[in-house]
Amino acid sequence: MALKAQDVEPHRFNGGHLVNLDEVKTKAGGAFSVFTPFWRTARQAVSDGGPIPTPDTLPAPDAWPASDRLSDWRLHPTAPDWSTGFRDWEPGEAGAGAALEAFTDQALRTYSTDRDRPAVEGTSRLSPHLHFGEISPKACWRAALAAAHHGQASDGEAEKFLAELGWREFNAAIVRGADLATNNFDRKFDAFPWRDDPEGLEAWKRGATGYPIVDAGMRQLWTTGWMHNRVRMIVASFLTKHLLIDWRVGEQWFWDTLVDADHASNAGNWQWVAGSGADASPYFRIFNPMLQSEKFDPPGDYIRRWVPELAGLPAKVIHAPWTATAPVLAGSGVRLGGNYPRPIVGHPFARQRALDAYADMRARAPDGICAPLL
Ligand code: FAD
Repeated sequence: MALKAQDVEPHRFNGGHLVNLDEVKTKAGGAFSVFTPFWRTARQAVSDGGPIPTPDTLPAPDAWPASDRLSDWRLHPTAPDWSTGFRDWEPGEAGAGAALEAFTDQALRTYSTDRDRPAVEGTSRLSPHLHFGEISPKACWRAALAAAHHGQASDGEAEKFLAELGWREFNAAIVRGADLATNNFDRKFDAFPWRDDPEGLEAWKRGATGYPIVDAGMRQLWTTGWMHNRVRMIVASFLTKHLLIDWRVGEQWFWDTLVDADHASNAGNWQWVAGSGADASPYFRIFNPMLQSEKFDPPGDYIRRWVPELAGLPAKVIHAPWTATAPVLAGSGVRLGGNYPRPIVGHPFARQRALDAYADMRARAPDGICAPLL
């Protein structure tokens, strides 16, 4: 309105997404609720065109209105300065460009395998830059394809990275039809018997569950504002399945603490892990935190970094310290129940309890009586 009053015609460009999400439809003209066919269609709709050229001139106003100086707002925390762990980030366009260049030069080459190893710099770390619009997904897309074209990475590695950008598109598409942070996409989860467990929740938030991989992830999040994707899945599974706490509670904590907190991706992924989402991992697939840890962090380097009180443990027992003998624990300076907690819930018990809760929900809301929101 204000622009029109001044005879200025505004134009909007779709810089935040790879495709116009309104145009990605099933053959019947509906919205997709499964990733693979969504991505097959969306990937083909990404245009090859380069970025819109920078304007030659941007006419400045005759006079700038008075404004505050950002430094006067004293936004930087000082007492205490809790931001030291955030300093790997360089917010802004230059930082985003540098992260993309570093990624296509290095990690893209082995992305499909290293992206699952939390101790390795195997991913792009572009998520906050993408969220805040400091770089466009199209620029990431083009850089990955150019790297493959110039032999810096195989086509397969580049495609895997593009598909992850595809999940960002998919979540954004789904969130348009449903308030995903509030409602179960699959409404039969409205009948799920979530538990109220303030002590368990607090232990999870503080990284004091007694499960090293979970604690490492939660401490990485608190210290740096970012957590590795594989570990996000493990901690989210632990909250919703081992503790039976509603995914919305975890989503809220991530919302408060992540530097890349994004309405669509956060809620979409929480629901994916909890089993209530679009194309979700089935609820009854319950991650075993020890096996996940052994598989994706075999030497325990990620745990050593974020849970230093366990750093002296040998790799064989670091994923499950309660399996270590008393002399090994003593020799490593670990006192279970002292400087590191015992598990707040036993894995076999928690697994069975989660399966029972799922069966309970199924009995109360059998398939078919509650349709997804879309
Ligand atoms: P890369 O592996 O380099 O991927 C490149 C880009 O693809 C990412 O920057 C991101 O934009 C996109 N991407 C990758 N994986 C996913 C995914 N599963 N879903 C959506 N987009 C993806 N991502 C967010 O950006 N914001 C969130 O709030 C968020 N919350 C999450 C909550 C949970 C419980 C889980 C399991 C995942 C969440 N993710 C979220 C997805 C994913 O963990 C991050 O995008 C990824 O870890 C960011 O690191 P990266 O940039 O190095 O990723």
